[in-house]
Amino acid sequence: MSKPKIVILGAGYGGMMATVRLTKELTAEDADITLVNKHNYHYQTTWLHEAAAGTIHHDRTRMLIKNVINTNRVNFMQDSVQSIDRKNHKVLLKNGEIDYDYLIIALGFESNTFGIKGLEENAFAIRSVNTARKIREHIEYRFASYNSDPDAKDSDLTIVVGGAGLSGVEFLGELIDRIPALCKEYDIDPSKVRIVDVEGMPFVLPPFDRELADYAQKYLESKGVEFRLSTFIKEATPEGVKVQKKDSEELEEIQAGTVVWTGGVKANHIPAESGFATNRGKIQVSADLRSPEDDHIFAIGDVAVVFPPGAERPYPPTAQIAIQEAENLAKNMKHILKGEETELFVYKPKGTVASLGEKQAIGVVFDHKLTGKPAAAMKKVIDDRYLLMLGGVPLVLKKGKLNLL
Ligand code: FAD
Ligand code: NAD
Repeated sequence: MSKPKIVILGAGYGGMMATVRLTKELTAEDADITLVNKHNYHYQTTWLHEAAAGTIHHDRTRMLIKNVINTNRVNFMQDSVQSIDRKNHKVLLKNGEIDYDYLIIALGFESNTFGIKGLEENAFAIRSVNTARKIREHIEYRFASYNSDPDAKDSDLTIVVGGAGLSGVEFLGELIDRIPALCKEYDIDPSKVRIVDVEGMPFVLPPFDRELADYAQKYLESKGVEFRLSTFIKEATPEGVKVQKKDSEELEEIQAGTVVWTGGVKANHIPAESGFATNRGKIQVSADLRSPEDDHIFAIGDVAVVFPPGAERPYPPTAQIAIQEAENLAKNMKHILKGEETELFVYKPKGTVASLGEKQAIGVVFDHKLTGKPAAAMKKVIDDRYLLMLGGVPLVLKKGKLNLL
């Protein structure tokens, strides 16, 4: 009898961890494993705000997939998924197709612009290595042009960030670290640079502990960030953004050379377009992360929606959850192939830490609040822990943030 074919779509947090764990849980005789990803590298989305601001090079955020997975056990295909044909157990790729017995969908997230006029065309989003690199280069170009372009305006040096969720706040933290170096490099008076964050809620970091969120806001303000709270981005234009304060009729224009939208994420569009039943655009999976429409299909990470038992709100889309889902899935695949009962997914939250640049952060870890340098160190521990889980000590030494070498 031929071996079952397991196909994993997407090499983000969920897809990479699922691949690595499956090679540990299963033997080569148990199944054939194929991983499909549009790039030949895996990137850590959780570091992209740093690459976007230019505080780290984008190569720090990525690694060749073949250097992390066991290529004797896993067939890696660099290709772009176009659609999933559930009826015929096939995935259509840009350059061909692949059939599966078990499918793991881990295609991640896309930026959610909520249909706001002009955002797609005139704002950047922190989504991938390519988009992060584009943001860094755009900001640098604005600074480089300021003293050389006769038409340059002061507002070319204004950066607007849309949203003060965790992505927005972490990006602001990197910007305040980066701007002094850019000013020095391009002979720019730092007082000419504006960083404006526009947030619809009356406070920053809406889902966070208020004391810690206030700490973050005050720290960022002390470094020059202007917050426009209870204010919504209504439109992005080539000149900047139009914003509206809550309960006001008036639109105000903020001219800016760079607009970066961090106002929300949604699931990759491919499952919905392939006819999967979705909830908030995501595949709603059962408690063992399988599609209720086809128990040979799993979805994990930002493409899946999972509700804690009895809760009305699903788990948030985070790398931490994607990783834990991948671990659960790998165990369940073994159970399924052995004809055993599957284990239900139980999320074990360890906490959340948000960086505010290299040396500052806020966070709650195992119910303890942290700020400042201890929180910044904890953030690096979290980053390195993932590398340890993925590729062991060699990967931490090569890519880790604790500078062990
Ligand atoms: P992703 O990591 O998005 O991976 C999806 C993969 O699929 C990618 O490799 C992509 O290239 C590939 N892919 C997509 N489409 C196709 C296609 N058509 N064909 C082939 N391949 C495809 N969460 C935390 O827990 N902690 C943090 O500190 C944190 N920081 C963040 C910082 C930022 C700036 C952002 C934007 C998010 C952050 N998150 C954080 C959220 C976290 O990054 C996501 O929840 C996580 O990346 C989801 O993992 P995933 O595997 O579902 O998808
Ligand atoms: P988010 O949805 O959490 O935050 C978006 C923010 O934009 C919200 O505060 C919202 O009020 C605001 N907003 C939306 N529309 C707006 C408008 N028109 N004008 C002004 N403000 C507007 O998105 P995110 O920050 O990208 O986070 C996405 C996911 O990634 C979350 O689950 C988050 O927990 C996770 N994440 C985690 C970390 C971490 O753990 N350190 C870091 C980044 C992201």
